[in-house]
Amino acid sequence: MPIKRFADYLQRRGEYDAYMSPLVNHFNPETLPYLMCRSLISVAWDGKLYDCDFNQMLEMGLTKPRAVAPLTLWDIDALEELEGLPIATGSHCFGCAAGAGSSCGGALR
Ligand code: SF4
Repeated sequence: MPIKRFADYLQRRGEYDAYMSPLVNHFNPETLPYLMCRSLISVAWDGKLYDCDFNQMLEMGLTKPRAVAPLTLWDIDALEELEGLPIATGSHCFGCAAGAGSSCGGALR
């Protein structure tokens, strides 16, 4: 996944675009219902909630619309409260949605 140190490494070598192009060009909308951020969350040591571990590394917290701060474990009483909230996305998401898709459990399609 091209984030953080790996993304920096690619950019230093001038290879970031070459790495990203196949991912973008092979975007597969059929993977979207199966992305792990649709059914799992990532919980940080300090209780902050994230849509996935990649977003956690990027500090893209799970938030409610118009909220002033990302949610923590102590802001919710049940996981059902998170259903339907927007998922924070970025260019790194092409790493999950290219080709057959990718997740902690392997290919999505
Ligand atoms: S990187 Fe993006 S597409 Fe992949 S699981 Fe996280 S939010 Fe979803």
